[in-house]
Amino acid sequence: MKESYAIAHELHARAVAQGARSDVCLCCGAVIVGGLPACYELFAELGAQRYIDPAYAAPTLYGVDAHALQHPEIHGKKNNAAHLLRLHWLFSRHEMARVGEIPRWWHDWLNSGDIPLLEPPRQRGDLTVMDVAVAHCVDDFARLMEAWARSVYAAWDAHHAWAEAELRRLLR
Ligand SMILES: [Zn+2]
Repeated sequence: MKESYAIAHELHARAVAQGARSDVCLCCGAVIVGGLPACYELFAELGAQRYIDPAYAAPTLYGVDAHALQHPEIHGKKNNAAHLLRLHWLFSRHEMARVGEIPRWWHDWLNSGDIPLLEPPRQRGDLTVMDVAVAHCVDDFARLMEAWARSVYAAWDAHHAWAEAELRRLLR
């Protein structure tokens, strides 16, 4: 967590020094004062609501996948493949009710070794963390988190076939 945040600061500072806008997240395109590090902080803040009301916990996991896949530059390659695989499982197998669950096979797969480097798309979805931040109740939060995750999942469509093949192997 800390390491990703430090990388976010470095990348943002470098981009701004090269003339990029400081109020745009260079990974997801969200317009937010402070850019990439602020985007990261806003997501952490939204996620922290689950400590006050546990009903926020499950939908927050959608956001963990969505935010990671929109910011691959600050995470490792395992991270991207893992989050895409979880979203593919949720959406392709109609397992949305289990959004709060990290399946056993997912952990086993993460520890299995050979995980590919998936080239991130240039466009990473129509929604960002900013669209979820307007939620005014837990139902709204859950609806927006799912919409955000769906838009990011769709943006990664070049790797859906990979995710399907991997999932079939794992669920066999
Ligand atoms: Zn961002």
